[in-house]
Order: sequence, then C-alpha cells, then structure tokens
Amino acid sequence: MARKRDVWNEVLSRITPPSNIAAYLEWSTGILRINATQEAWRRLFERGGDADLPPDEQELLETVTHEMFHVVQIINTGYLYQLVTQLQVEIDEWLRSCNPPAEDDDVVRAFLTMPVPPELSESVRGWIAELDTPGAEAITTRAIVESSAFLVQKRIFDHHFTHDAYLKTLDDSCPSPDYRHPYDVAARYLGNATVDAYPLVACLALCTLKPAEVLAPLCEEASRQQLISHSSGNTAMDIDGLIGLSRHFPSFVGTAAQLSEMLPLAHPVYARGVAVFKELAGTNQYAQWAFMCTPHLLWATLAEPLLRFHPLVFNDTRGRLTMIPPAAIRSQMTEQEQEQYALRLVATAAIYARIID
Ligand SMILES: [Zn+2]
Repeated sequence: MARKRDVWNEVLSRITPPSNIAAYLEWSTGILRINATQEAWRRLFERGGDADLPPDEQELLETVTHEMFHVVQIINTGYLYQLVTQLQVEIDEWLRSCNPPAEDDDVVRAFLTMPVPPELSESVRGWIAELDTPGAEAITTRAIVESSAFLVQKRIFDHHFTHDAYLKTLDDSCPSPDYRHPYDVAARYLGNATVDAYPLVACLALCTLKPAEVLAPLCEEASRQQLISHSSGNTAMDIDGLIGLSRHFPSFVGTAAQLSEMLPLAHPVYARGVAVFKELAGTNQYAQWAFMCTPHLLWATLAEPLLRFHPLVFNDTRGRLTMIPPAAIRSQMTEQEQEQYALRLVATAAIYARIID
C-alpha cells in the first residue's frame, strides 16, 4: 500500500502547478487541477456568492471560473474539441500498445520513465505549435481562446462592463498580450459592441480549422455587413447572419457536437460535456449561439453541472494530492475502478507534460 502511495505522489507531482497558479485545466485529459485542499475548495464553493471573499479565495474562484470557461470553449467548438480529442487519443493509443506490467503502480512508473516515441512527441508538439502560429493581424489561436476566457471571467464578476471599462481593466490587469490582442483587433472593426460580441465571434472563429486566420476577416465583414451594431449602450447582433458569414470560410467545421458525430473516437471526459451542453441547448437560451451572446448571465446554471463531469485534483492536507473522479460517474464505480480511472487519466496528463515541457 505504501508503495502505491509513492507512485501516486510521483505521478501527481507531474501536474503540480507553482504556488502562484491558483488552478489550471489540463487540456489533454480535462483534469481540473485546483491548487488548494478539497476542504478549502468546498468551503469556497459553498460561499461562492459572497461578495467579500478574502483576496486569495477570490483569485481561486476567478481562476477556476476562467478555466471552466475553457471547458465551455472546448465542448462548444469544433477546433478545440478536435484538438483535445486528438491529443488524448494519440497518447492513449500509445499507452494501450505498451504491454503494461500486471501491477497498476508498475504501469504508471513505467510510463513516467519510458522514452516517449519520437513520432508521438512530434505529433503532440505539432498540435501545440499550431495554437501559437500567428494568422491574420498577428492573432494566434491560443490568444483567441485566452482573450475570450478573460473577458467572460471578468464579466461573470461584473455584468455591467462597457467596452471602455473593459479596456481599462485590460490596461490595469491584463496578464499577457495573449489575453487582449485579438480583442483589440476585433474592437477596431466592432467598436463599443466588442464587449458584447466578442465571445460569439471568437466562438465562431473556433468553429473553423483556422481560427487565427478567420477572426479578423470575420469581424471586418460582420462590421461591413452591419451584422453587429451598437447604439445607446445596447448591442444588436444578427446571429443567423453571423453564422452564415462564418460558414463561408472554407475551414468551417461547426460546433463540437456537430464535429463529434464525425470523429471516430470520443474524448472520455469532454464528450460528456458536449452531451450536457447539447441537452441544455434544448432550452432556447442555451442554444449555443444565443448562449455565447451572454455567457456571463447564464454562467451560474452551467458551471455546476459541468464541474460534475470533470476529474478534480486537489492538494491534500496530509501532504499528498487527491484526485476525485467526476461526481457524475463516481457513484457507479467501485473503489478499484475509480483508482484505475484516475491512474489512467493522470498517466496521460503526465506524459503530455513530459512531451511539452
Ligand atoms: Zn486561460
């Protein structure tokens, strides 16, 4: 038993963030790594609506909100869903082909030390490099993802942001150029409407296979065709017109739900989120595009169901780390199945970290 615990510690240490990172989403697996104890998280979750949280708790809440919005981007858009599925499938295929030793902990130790095949490293690095390749107006796909998540994160905690107020927030507290550059480009075409329209146009760009090439021309054309306009503090968006416009880009692949029907394999974690969102979309306000017009107003009812489908990894008070399989499937698993599920996912995350480090 002691040996198994050692292996767990070794594996989990691969996905431990530095102390100044409050939380992050491990993209390939969907693990949400929370840099706090489970008890601290539960206390915070229970007081979530409290306006006067101490600064460290407020930061944790905002960071988890930001990371969960990345989940929403992944389960909504063809490009990101395809990316995470590809990463997971490629690593998992290798794990399955490795003739694992009989004992679980030996398997995991082997994965932490075995040389990763060069073709696998090259392929995973290629996918990640694509995220950082600049397209039209020096925009990268990663920057589209980050700038949209940062805006929604800020609006969830302050619904009444205007474009000017948001620009001031960016001037004061933008963590890096990635968190604002594509927003600034969009604002050149869309002006004061950008604060309302940006999550939708970013999402439409991410429904193509070339988001970095598409975002700027999409905004330019939307402005020219007056599909987005702003007057007296109100933004009007012609959603059907915008969808039609994005379909004209040859790289358009559609939503994650549309693309997932064509992919041969499903992602073990995000596919459940895709299904949850599809179910919610049955009610009109969650129809994907309408949702992207006001994600900050609908957030409270979406975040909790989505969190139930994600494996969570916490710091533990006993000097260990704890991984909790998703609440939605945990009750149907034996303890042994839970452990196997956790080891498999964390092994994938650890290999992904080894490749991209
Ligand atoms: Zn982010």
